[in-house]
Amino acid sequence: YLELQGIRKTFGGSTVLDNVDLSIQEGEFVTLLGPSGCGKSTLLRCIAGLTEPDGGRMLLGRKDIAGLPPRSREVGMVFQSYALFPNLTVYGNIEYGLKMRGADKAERHARCEELLALVDLQEKRDAYPARLSGGQQQRVALARSLAVRPKVLLLDEPLSALDAKIRKSLRTEIREIQRKLNMTTIFVTHDQEEALTMSDRICIMNNGHIVQEGTPETLYSRPRTEFVARFMGSYN
Ligand code: ATP
Ligand code: MG
Repeated sequence: YLELQGIRKTFGGSTVLDNVDLSIQEGEFVTLLGPSGCGKSTLLRCIAGLTEPDGGRMLLGRKDIAGLPPRSREVGMVFQSYALFPNLTVYGNIEYGLKMRGADKAERHARCEELLALVDLQEKRDAYPARLSGGQQQRVALARSLAVRPKVLLLDEPLSALDAKIRKSLRTEIREIQRKLNMTTIFVTHDQEEALTMSDRICIMNNGHIVQEGTPETLYSRPRTEFVARFMGSYN
């Protein structure tokens, strides 16, 4: 469904993405797990159109998305720090993308109601981001990115700024929403427990490429390299 072939990216002579191949099925929840600086965010940014790769192919469904402006890619993204609009309410944040696309008021209202219910924030609709907990802010960010019905959802360490308890409950919540929508998702983390508990498939990244991919069980019990073994077992 989402096909990446030979994605390459260099920044000022250093190779950040080194021929990344990744193929994701519709509705699959795939985690990119790897150390800081291995290229995880850069890969997501290439898919979202926030950075252009130097080479490679990107197909979403039958559509070649390389070179398209971000808004035409049908890709939603949630960042580690919430990046909500501070001057808009919860409702306003969720509505924003729909407004930008010229959806009429009735349509926006119906969609926002649906999303407020999905992330269970109906009673916070008129609150401003500064008055929300970190977990609530990330649920708004999730609803906002889903508003325009993306075909792929990219989650760049959405839980890492939260405290442990909220992080655990949001793991479950994100996975429930993802299943309900059958949303094709790439989730980035450097937390191996998150990867093990949430993923259909894990891709271990190091130095700009994917060193091994497989189900959580496979990676845990049959790591192919020392690096993967260390990363799956004893990281943290
Ligand atoms: P982390 O887990 O810390 O978020 P990451 O795997 O997401 O790390 P990236 O943000 O993709 O890593 O960065 C990969 C490498 O690319 C890093 O060495 C980083 O310094 C470099 N890099 C990223 N963006 C830029 C940029 N705009 N200009 C120059 N170098 C960059
Ligand atoms: Mg990153």
